[in-house]
Amino acid sequence: MAEPARQLDVIDARPAFTQADADALNARFEGVDTLSMLKTVFAEGLAGNVAVVSSFGTESAVLLDLVAKADKNVPVIFVDTLKMFDETLAYRETLIETLGFTDSRAVVPNAEVLAAKDETGLRWSYDPDGCCEIRKVEPMARAKEGLDAWISGRKAFQSVTRQNLPRFEIEDGRLKINPLGDWTKADLEIYFEAENLPRHPLEAQGYLSIGCEPCTTLPLDPSNERSGRWQGEKLECGIHIEVGKS
Ligand code: SF4
Repeated sequence: MAEPARQLDVIDARPAFTQADADALNARFEGVDTLSMLKTVFAEGLAGNVAVVSSFGTESAVLLDLVAKADKNVPVIFVDTLKMFDETLAYRETLIETLGFTDSRAVVPNAEVLAAKDETGLRWSYDPDGCCEIRKVEPMARAKEGLDAWISGRKAFQSVTRQNLPRFEIEDGRLKINPLGDWTKADLEIYFEAENLPRHPLEAQGYLSIGCEPCTTLPLDPSNERSGRWQGEKLECGIHIEVGKS
């Protein structure tokens, strides 16, 4: 007897990007400056339904400024774990307004899941991976539903898990765009100064990489900006770790 048609195929009509698509885009934009690349991607609709995801951390303003210069109507998605610094929430408002974005969105953890798995709000203290799963990874997955592509602020220099970042890659059939993949820390600083971008309020206190309040401290190793995350015990929250490669 023939198998019934898979409902998933009917429900998820999103055209999947393939590795060949990513390869073609990487080849087309090789040597093209970041802003020109973004302008072309948006103007020609090369990424389909696309949004930028931002943590509104110390370096986020650079990517957001570039995206805004290319198209201020690109949605800006923020994963609010409900454990963020007040300064980050204020910085988000500052950047959205300053850069003129028209579509700012936030996703938060599922309330029922929080009640069941993190009733005390202290899961971060004994199970950070589990906490990241329910407060970041699942909401992020929800935020990406309906998107064909998303733009990430990852850079190769940030940690050993982010070496050799291509500008375009494939993740679950979606295009993942890393416009700053090959930018250096110095490139970011030069851009900040040149564009007179507002700084995260906590940067002046010595914070280099800022995530959730309970899991962010001043950097343990000043040469490794992410060493102030999870007390240096883990480097990624799961959003950027590919299945089978973590
Ligand atoms: S960074 Fe910390 S508080 Fe935030 S989701 Fe992960 S474990 Fe939880």
